[in-house]
Amino acid sequence: MTQFDYDLFVIGGGSGGVRAARIAAAEGGARVGLAEESRMGGTCVIRGCVPKKLMVYASEFPGQIEDARAYGWDVQARGFDWDRFRTTLEAELMRLETAYRSTLKNAGVTIHDARATVLDPHTVQLASGQRFTTKHILIATGGRPFVPDVPGADLAITSNEIFHLPALPKRALVVGGGYIASEFACILNGLGVETTQYYRGAQILRGFDDEACGHVANAMLAAGIEIHCGTDVLRLERAGAAIRAVATDGLEASFDLVLYATGRMPNSAGLGLEALGVALGQNGEVKVNDWSQTAVPSIYAVGDVTDRVNLTPVAIREGHAFADTVFRGVPTRFEHVNIASAVFTQPELGAMGLTEEEARALGPTEVYVASFRPMKTLFAGRQDRVLMKLLVSVESRRVLGCHVVGAGAGEMIQLVAIAIGMGATKEDFDRTVAVHPTMAEELVTLRKPTRVI
Ligand code: NDP
Repeated sequence: MTQFDYDLFVIGGGSGGVRAARIAAAEGGARVGLAEESRMGGTCVIRGCVPKKLMVYASEFPGQIEDARAYGWDVQARGFDWDRFRTTLEAELMRLETAYRSTLKNAGVTIHDARATVLDPHTVQLASGQRFTTKHILIATGGRPFVPDVPGADLAITSNEIFHLPALPKRALVVGGGYIASEFACILNGLGVETTQYYRGAQILRGFDDEACGHVANAMLAAGIEIHCGTDVLRLERAGAAIRAVATDGLEASFDLVLYATGRMPNSAGLGLEALGVALGQNGEVKVNDWSQTAVPSIYAVGDVTDRVNLTPVAIREGHAFADTVFRGVPTRFEHVNIASAVFTQPELGAMGLTEEEARALGPTEVYVASFRPMKTLFAGRQDRVLMKLLVSVESRRVLGCHVVGAGAGEMIQLVAIAIGMGATKEDFDRTVAVHPTMAEELVTLRKPTRVI
């Protein structure tokens, strides 16, 4: 029997790779090596969810301080110290990176701080030239920002660079209408940057419930973000210290910063996969079956590099399912259904299940909508409105979808997701006694459908 150096070699130390490595080693008894060319923790920890959420918190304070004044506090925001924030942020990321490393070490995983490529179905090679044989290989290399090929695109930055800016700009243009673009438009605006967003489509956050998207977009406009839908950048030009953006609708405007958030691409190039017969899709995504196995039986792939559902908790589940299946003798398929998510715009959008547009196509549906001014901000004299929406199948009475726009929507949707995942009916929601006074109580007190579609 061939003796390999490792039972598993993981390429990529992000959410999916780290989980798979840890479970395979600590619970599956496998000898595991993991190579990471950048910082341990991957996109989520180093240049994604975590620093983004901390920036969201930072950007919410001006509004909260305003509210505090309305509540009687004698306070004033005297300006934002970007350097101080960045230094604390970097320290926090270092702490998390160290925690990831020690978790892996404690599990018995050997870390290689290097880029690795695949030489054959059972051999990987580090950038140093060092080679290891391994029974299984897991590709967990994630994704990277995609910037379209417009003239002057090199003048723009992506979400990778936003956390390292030497100073905050005065005027920023955000290009794109997805999660990252919309979240950063709100963050920059909250931090006092004059913010404009260009999106080529009709409404930002395409794919989410239309009414919820409209609610978020209106709130963003009211907060001072200039959203231009049906608009894209034709070219970017240097204009002294500024960047001039020429847009498809004839707009020409200058900005100090242009952030492209126009999607992400799988990180599969240059790993040596195609030569081995691992099938890649149109955008370079590694093709896998339900068990995350590629066309080469000893090679598996999880997370954004497979471009299934590109969310951290999904990559973690895929990595865990892989380790359970291959190293713990517990065949596990992660099914990509009932996945709630939240967009950390201001206000937040939490979504679970079908949108109204999707439900309409499936059959008769009751649509329950509540839109109201929440107690906390109403008291402070703000016009903010919360949106709560439930979609209920007329036939089965099951709640098919829930969409919440408002402060804490991400927290709310996490819990609603349990009920919807269990197949809760509208009557189950109705039977639930409200927790008062909360915003979430509206979800169990929606009595009459707003419309039936
Ligand atoms: P998205 O796919 O969400 O959005 C990409 C945006 O860029 C869309 O508005 C798209 O327009 C636009 N776009 C794409 N190509 C072009 C182009 N050539 N020219 C102009 N515009 C273009 O990607 P993101 O980068 O925002 O996020 C990547 C992924 O990361 C998300 O899918 C999500 O899964 C994950 N993520 C999750 C977060 C969360 O859970 N809170 C936060 C951040 C990211 P169109 O709609 O017309 O295609």
